[in-house]
Amino acid sequence: MEPLQFDLTLIQARGGNLCGDDRFTIVACAQCGTHYLYNEELRDIYYNPFDLSRRFFNIEMLGLPPCVGCGLIDWRFSASNPIKVEVQLGPWAWVLKQ
Ligand SMILES: [Zn+2]
Repeated sequence: MEPLQFDLTLIQARGGNLCGDDRFTIVACAQCGTHYLYNEELRDIYYNPFDLSRRFFNIEMLGLPPCVGCGLIDWRFSASNPIKVEVQLGPWAWVLKQ
């Protein structure tokens, strides 16, 4: 599978929270498939591709807000992340290097 290449400059310019050792992925809700930007290093999950201030700290004890796609409260990441072409067709396409 082709690894995703993220445009860190653009993510930062739009308000993303970077630490220098960032490990971004795109994750999906296991129930509805809604995509989310996720920084595995900082455990920041981004809920809104147009507002990167809407991010949450993904640790077990805090819990996340309901899935924006299906509203499920205790939602989980899909076992397999979206592939590049799926991300390119989704709301997070802009975070990828062209
Ligand atoms: Zn969902």
